[in-house]
Amino acid sequence: MRRIGLVAATCVAVAGALALTPAAATPAPTAQRPLQGVIIALDPGHQLGNSNPRFASQLAKTKFNGLRIKGCNTTGTATNSGFPEATFNWRVTSYLENRLRALGATVRKTRSTNSYNAWGPCVWDRGRFGAQVDADLLLSIHADGAVSTGSGFYIMVPASIPGWTDDIAKSSGRMGQRFIQGMANAGAPRSTYIRDQTLVTQDISTLNFSDVPAILVELGNMRHPGDASRMTSREGQKQYADWVLAGIRAALRL
Ligand SMILES: [Zn+2]
Repeated sequence: MRRIGLVAATCVAVAGALALTPAAATPAPTAQRPLQGVIIALDPGHQLGNSNPRFASQLAKTKFNGLRIKGCNTTGTATNSGFPEATFNWRVTSYLENRLRALGATVRKTRSTNSYNAWGPCVWDRGRFGAQVDADLLLSIHADGAVSTGSGFYIMVPASIPGWTDDIAKSSGRMGQRFIQGMANAGAPRSTYIRDQTLVTQDISTLNFSDVPAILVELGNMRHPGDASRMTSREGQKQYADWVLAGIRAALRL
């Protein structure tokens, strides 16, 4: 939101002193491009090659995350038929990226491939990424692997850890609640197994290493037949992208 405030202030200055003030470098938001000037960091969770034994040593790296020592990254989950979470996350992120760009947003991603011959990046690099690109929001996109009776989406946001997340816990929590409302209003099924669709956690490294507001969303449960069916189809993946877009816009109030 820093960025949005800056853009607004620049516009006021330009309007008030047109002859003296050069045009703003970033065009102002318009009805067609309401996300102009906003930077979104998208983190498609995991990486297909995390399951490649070739990268075992890279994945075994560890780092203290503010609560405990945790590993670089994991393979993620999969549907019962073997469709990997990394690929689902990647596809939803790709569709979402197009939608965000069409509305004027700048989109940066923590990984640029989904390949069995690539690994990571580690969760600490994913977390730090948002600040590196000066993002207004870091959104980490995942799918859950829970008991098969549960379905629907929920989010994780950082609890306050002094020196780690005390600077972003409140803003992440507030944006997270608006994100849930935006997704649900757009039609996304709410989690049936996580109360209020929210986990406030001290243990997610991606969130703990972030210095900009951060939300991790579990879009559905890959072990639930209905969710799995939606997650494995292109139409379903586009539907998730639409729902997440609505969540982001609600979170940013744009
Ligand atoms: Zn995941």
